Amino acid sequence: MGSYFQILALLLLSLPCIFSQVTEFTSIDCGGDSNYTDKKTGLAWISDNGIMNHGKTVDIQNLNDEWEPYKKRRDFPTDDRKYCYTLDTKERRRYLVRATFLYGSTETADTYPSFLLYLDATKWATVTVFDGSRTYVKEMIIRAPSSSIDVCLCCATTGSPFISTLELRPLNLSMYATDYEDNFYMKVAARVNFGAPTKDPIRYPDDPFDRVWESDQVKRPNFLVGVAPGTERIDTTKNIEVNNREYPPVKVMQTAVVGTEGYLTYRLTLEDFPGNARAFAYFAEIENLRSNETRKFRMEHPYVPDYSNAVVNIAENANGTYKLYEPSYMNVTLDFVLSFSFVKTPDSTEGPLLSAIEISKYVQIGSKADAQDVIALNAILATLPADPGKQDKGDPCTPTRWEWVLCSSTAPRRITAIHLSQRNLTGVIPPEIQNMDALTELWLDGNSFTGPIPDISNLLNLKIVHLENNRLNGFLPSYLSSLPSLQELYIQNNYFSGKIPPALLSRKIVFNYNGNPGLTKGMRLGTKVKLVVGISVAALVAFIILVIWLSLRKFRRKASQQNSYKGGSLHAVTKPQNGHNLTRGAHLMDDGVACCIKLSEIEAATMKFTKNIGRGSFGVVYYGRMKDGKEVAVKIIGDPTSQGTKQFLTEVSLLSRIHHRNLVPLIGYCEEANHRILVYEYMHNGTLRDHIHDSIKQRQLDWLTRLRIAEDAAKGLEYLHTGCSPSIIHRDVKTSNILLDINMRAKVADFGLSRQAEEDLTHISSVAKGTVGYLDPEYYACQQLTEKSDVYSFGIVLLELISGRKPITEDYGTDWNIVHWARSLIRKGDVGSMIDPLLADSVKLESAWRVAEVAIQCVEQHGTSRPKMQEIIMAVQDAVMLEKGAENNQNISSGSGRAQSSRKTLLTSFLEIESPDLSNARLTPSAR
Ligand code: ATP
Repeated sequence: MGSYFQILALLLLSLPCIFSQVTEFTSIDCGGDSNYTDKKTGLAWISDNGIMNHGKTVDIQNLNDEWEPYKKRRDFPTDDRKYCYTLDTKERRRYLVRATFLYGSTETADTYPSFLLYLDATKWATVTVFDGSRTYVKEMIIRAPSSSIDVCLCCATTGSPFISTLELRPLNLSMYATDYEDNFYMKVAARVNFGAPTKDPIRYPDDPFDRVWESDQVKRPNFLVGVAPGTERIDTTKNIEVNNREYPPVKVMQTAVVGTEGYLTYRLTLEDFPGNARAFAYFAEIENLRSNETRKFRMEHPYVPDYSNAVVNIAENANGTYKLYEPSYMNVTLDFVLSFSFVKTPDSTEGPLLSAIEISKYVQIGSKADAQDVIALNAILATLPADPGKQDKGDPCTPTRWEWVLCSSTAPRRITAIHLSQRNLTGVIPPEIQNMDALTELWLDGNSFTGPIPDISNLLNLKIVHLENNRLNGFLPSYLSSLPSLQELYIQNNYFSGKIPPALLSRKIVFNYNGNPGLTKGMRLGTKVKLVVGISVAALVAFIILVIWLSLRKFRRKASQQNSYKGGSLHAVTKPQNGHNLTRGAHLMDDGVACCIKLSEIEAATMKFTKNIGRGSFGVVYYGRMKDGKEVAVKIIGDPTSQGTKQFLTEVSLLSRIHHRNLVPLIGYCEEANHRILVYEYMHNGTLRDHIHDSIKQRQLDWLTRLRIAEDAAKGLEYLHTGCSPSIIHRDVKTSNILLDINMRAKVADFGLSRQAEEDLTHISSVAKGTVGYLDPEYYACQQLTEKSDVYSFGIVLLELISGRKPITEDYGTDWNIVHWARSLIRKGDVGSMIDPLLADSVKLESAWRVAEVAIQCVEQHGTSRPKMQEIIMAVQDAVMLEKGAENNQNISSGSGRAQSSRKTLLTSFLEIESPDLSNARLTPSAR
């Protein structure tokens, strides 16, 4: 009875989620002639009549009512156009996009078709029909790049392109989030339900996200062959806790296969492989093992170091029976034929168990046509007569270009020519055209355009312009004569008026201006007067600018001769800065820019060191105010030994060369009378540690502030890692080394332990440096220092920001620290329990997820599995956007456009330089 109520309660709880999911489903019956509701699933299908104006409907024979959406298909012409369906999406939300293809019988002796399927400019699949009675399913998991996507068919090599259904299914939270989603979609290659009772797939409503879980009983060539003897099916009717990242359906998890002879083996082909994949295995212990029974196994094939060595003990990993354990490889290289096997460990009494697998190939997102060009083309499309059949959709250049444009061949694809002669275009020539600066040819002749020529002065590549035979009017702009590439200009038979700019007439170009009764050669008096006045004004302005510039130069020269700080107290070393390079063996200050401050000045500023604001491993830090009013933090280096001197000089040298808005600036230094002092800009809001762990201050730190601090600090570290040459490893990243300025913007401090990364990254230092609780265990064990040690420490900072907990406290128990605690909660999918109670309900779960996820990756055992700072920045930015949510969509999308583009540059360069190469299967697999 109890369990009955539990199930009922679960159902009721999940109903709103399922309901909201379904209402957002888009299900298009391509070729269908009416809208209807599928009786079995309750899903609403819409006909593509009115959505798609091309192609023809073809009946598929002998299908019963269960196959309603497949009873008709839509066939498209075999030409060089592409035919696209536009689906509305929410930018940055993740979706499953599914296209299906059932050709039907071949009684007419047609050749089976083969054609291409594209998602925007990304090649999704080659659809090749080998068996007319089989439904070919193509699925792609995407994070929507904008407010709509185009699914396009084209380029048939045999037969004509066709489609049966098109479905869009929104996903929840961070389901299927990957570190590569800015640049890669995921094409589903296999999603298998093991131990399935029948051959039928499991999908909606059993799966609220309507994924298709294929039965392992399906028989087809090279699909799940090589099954080990002794493989048995098991099932349960008990509920399984599936609330982990990917929420596999309970029904899928209620069945499994077990290798009663100690091993499970399978072989299947993966379409379009070899390639790089995201691979998930889903396990749930659904047998009630006795206390003397154990189920422990390893993955033997494919052999992936670390993961093949790890012992799977489902009940232990999932923290209980009937709970999901979902290990996944973030990025693994797989062959066309995937053989996999799980083998029990010698000390296990039971054989391995497997509930489901899911494998998706990373597909590089294709380069779309330049966004500004597309905006202009869409504005031009709006001037086309209302003939929807002729409206072009999809990317203008890929996979096939719109018939009336030419595109450059290199990415980003630019529009180089517009051919719209005699197309009955009306209205004014859209001004957006001015941004198409790769345009070389513009053919708009023989239309009914009115109004003046828009500003095309930017179009420096324009060679040929055809505007003749329209109804254009107004003056001819004078810049036409100075378009550098212009060779041919045709404006005859319009209503232009005024004088033709003389330079246009004298230029060696083909220029036809007949049939414009109002146009005259030569310059009118009024124009001459205007010209004289214009030149005089320009000359005057130029004269004034020259005078100001000369005065400024004089002033600067004087200032540099004085060679001293404004207040007369700081002496700038004025030698030019030489990047951030440290020349080994040279005097540390030789090529830097730092200010030497007299001890007397510092004494005056700190009122003889009266206001102590903190103490670190170097010594005491005092508050001070310089003569010019600048507030400073004065760090006295307490250790007069050579080690202290070295650290002092290192820090001065490093800091004097490094300038970034998220690093605490060094103002000056003093090396006088056995005193070594560093003078930093004063950070009014102290350390992040105080704000997180001090019960009074922490109230200021709402979630968005914490995210901004995380982003700032990550940017500071990212600059140390990648913006400096050679790169710098901080070595002591922690919340007390993240300071907050007056605006609560974070800056990373304390380079006392920083050092340059050795070029070969093999430096072995004798003592692991850093702070307990933040120290990278790999570095501690191997003494091998890389940027990933900072990443580990930063992961701890992120966990502190989410949870408000200290890295190490007795609360976690004897051996426990924040990492173990957080990892076990993440495994259970229980990010809610990680969130700082002070933030209570003010945090959106999905944004906390995004940060928790990346934090857990940061604290992976091995540095190679940890993300780079750039990836962390992106994750935090994602979290900010998720947190701000839909109500700010307008701002976010414009802001995100900017963030997105800069992020793209970052990620693109990251992928180009160092990230695993996803295209040619050369990278080291990583997993989480
Ligand atoms: P450790 O040296 O062991 O890493 P730490 O980072 O706390 O510890 P310091 O960098 O010497 O040591 O700083 C000591 C304290 O001085 C800090 O905790 C902070 O409260 C204060 N402090 C340091 N620099 C500044 C600054 N620029 N502005 C304001 N306060 C500062």
